[in-house]
Amino acid sequence: MSLVLEPRPPVTTPVEGGGAFPVRRIFCVGRNYADHAREMGADPDKEPPFFFTAWAETIAADGDKIAYPPATQNYHFEAELVVAIGKGGRDIAVSQAMDHVFGYACGLDMTRRDLQAEAKKQGRPWDVAKNVEQSKPLGPIRRADGFDPARGRITLSLNGETRQEASLSDMIWPVADIIACLSGFYRVEPGDLIYTGTPAGVAAVRPGDTVRVEIEGLPTLSVTIGGPAKD
Ligand code: MN
Repeated sequence: MSLVLEPRPPVTTPVEGGGAFPVRRIFCVGRNYADHAREMGADPDKEPPFFFTAWAETIAADGDKIAYPPATQNYHFEAELVVAIGKGGRDIAVSQAMDHVFGYACGLDMTRRDLQAEAKKQGRPWDVAKNVEQSKPLGPIRRADGFDPARGRITLSLNGETRQEASLSDMIWPVADIIACLSGFYRVEPGDLIYTGTPAGVAAVRPGDTVRVEIEGLPTLSVTIGGPAKD
């Protein structure tokens, strides 16, 4: 049967050293660093981390100018380690979870904080706050071999000034636990990306800003904030 619309090309993102990673779905972890949970008014000792989702089409690449989205006055950066899944599975054991990782990248989970605050207050879903065009930039994916996601610094700078700084060891759920837990809700699939949560220090961006995410051992991610999307 013929298609009645032009099919979209696959969403892909570069792999360091060559090739492209086909992105299937995006999962994000909420409140995976205690200091960020507290700055959001939550108690990390009482509420464990949790998942939310975004479309694959919301990715952007290193060097991109990302549009300032409509319907917000408070668009925030969140620096995050991104896990790229290479092998699928359901009910994955923590001890087996790292076998499912293809690689890692520096990422940003850009957030309409004003809409998120309103959604929390009203008990509504977070989609319009989190699942935003160009809101999930990631740097080149480095293959997993030799990278230890349980250590190393994660830092974010805004126009050259450090605004977020933590150790990956501060994550409440380490990467293996995230994969194991997620695979209890969904069959994890090759091509899935997992944004693993952000440390404290989140704040607003303005058009013209440069946001840079660095994680020891991974290629850097740098994006600039543009004006409103025009098309
Ligand atoms: Mn986040």
